[in-house]
Amino acid sequence: MMYTDTRDRSVSVNFRTAVLNGMNAQTGGLYIPVEFPRLDSSFLERIPEPSFREIAYEMAKPYVKDEIPDSDLESIIQDCYPFTPKVVPIDPVTYVLELFHGPTCAFKDFGARFMARVMSYFNRSQDRALHILVATSGDTGSAVGSAFLNVPGIDVTILYPDGKISPLQEKQLSTFTGNVRALKVKGTFDDCQKLVKTAFTDQSLREQFRLSSANSINISRLLPQAFYYMFASLVVRNRIPLDSKIDGASVITVVPSGNFGNLTSGLIAREMGAPITGFIAATNRNHTVPDWIATGEYAARPSVATLSNAMDVGAPSNYERISAMYSLDEVRRILAAYWTDDEGTVDGIRQCKSKTGYVIDPHGAVAWKAWNELRTSGIKADAASQAGGVMQPGFAASVPEWAQSIAEKKAAAILLETAHPAKFGATVSNATGQEPSMPERLEKVMSLPDNAVPMGKDYKSFKEWLLSNLR
Ligand SMILES: *Cc1c(COP(=O)(O)O)cnc(C)c1O
Repeated sequence: MMYTDTRDRSVSVNFRTAVLNGMNAQTGGLYIPVEFPRLDSSFLERIPEPSFREIAYEMAKPYVKDEIPDSDLESIIQDCYPFTPKVVPIDPVTYVLELFHGPTCAFKDFGARFMARVMSYFNRSQDRALHILVATSGDTGSAVGSAFLNVPGIDVTILYPDGKISPLQEKQLSTFTGNVRALKVKGTFDDCQKLVKTAFTDQSLREQFRLSSANSINISRLLPQAFYYMFASLVVRNRIPLDSKIDGASVITVVPSGNFGNLTSGLIAREMGAPITGFIAATNRNHTVPDWIATGEYAARPSVATLSNAMDVGAPSNYERISAMYSLDEVRRILAAYWTDDEGTVDGIRQCKSKTGYVIDPHGAVAWKAWNELRTSGIKADAASQAGGVMQPGFAASVPEWAQSIAEKKAAAILLETAHPAKFGATVSNATGQEPSMPERLEKVMSLPDNAVPMGKDYKSFKEWLLSNLR
């Protein structure tokens, strides 16, 4: 497979280059495969559906062809996924896709573990260390840190906004040792991301160190996230006729979104044949994308802090990939876009619990809220009121055709539950009056010592720190 660049279609690189460079330093653009091959219909139609690992292997194959032999790919997949996603029905037409069964209890484990193993595979004959720089608004850092921990020849520096992530998330980030370390930056996630982006375009720094990224801008994190969309949509397609007696239901996938890496992976899965009719992009007060869908104008902005803090992104990087893959009209046909505020998020946690008994985290709650609003009230097509963006919580006034199937009760939803509710225990217990139970792997981290290094948000101090600490 060849990969091109969102900003320059004449670029053509192989998988190894796309993975190790992270982004194209010459253009500032993002790598994207030149095609998304459809899986064989005999594979897609199989009943029962193939296992998660089988799907992962089949989907990864075309993207690494000629660079990773089948048997090596198979061991990479086995090593990545000792855990699997789980599809949990919570009412007759609503399925939660639990993506928190990995080591750090968030969906980012799926992408980070694949990336780590692919990078170490490509790095195996190098004698210089590969330095990974990663900015995180929440769960990226811990997933990436955990995925690379003790991987020889690779060194990881994590930047997170000091005081803007949950205490448990901070504990997960600040307690790594050895080849993984964290910097707590006096600033926002966007400041962290800017430091990392500046480092990547800093020629003098790049001459000294082999740098790579691990954000959702890295294509090797994006591709594996497509695996669970395929898996869940096949499972749900096969279950709907049994669970709700609906034939030919449309499958709507609701994605709590920040940097839009997860949603982009969903779009890739759909291109590869996943039976997904449409997507809801569910966001918080950082509603840059809903505003884009509403007005046709994309306007990045500074992020604001919310209860679903892993989605606090005002300038979502993967907008660039989405708009490279589709025209605005196509996006409007595939996607409905929604946002809610903190009040709505708390209400979503409470509502989901009282209507279904399911305890959902603040990110999944935004997805629940969007789905529940869509199936009870629909989307109002009052475009005039949204000329300046989606001013009130709710849907962008762009109604995809598939919304009709929801009104006709011929649709089911897959809600992506991107983190374990115990990671946001205070918010969840405030909403439901009940503390979510804590998985053992999270409990353990609370007693480890904090090793994070304080850092300003100016590039100069960051660079100085890198020069005196990286080897
Ligand atoms: C990162 C994250 C998101 C947002 O995912 P994007 O790919 O950035 O859109 C949502 N929920 C949780 C828990 C996350 O960690």
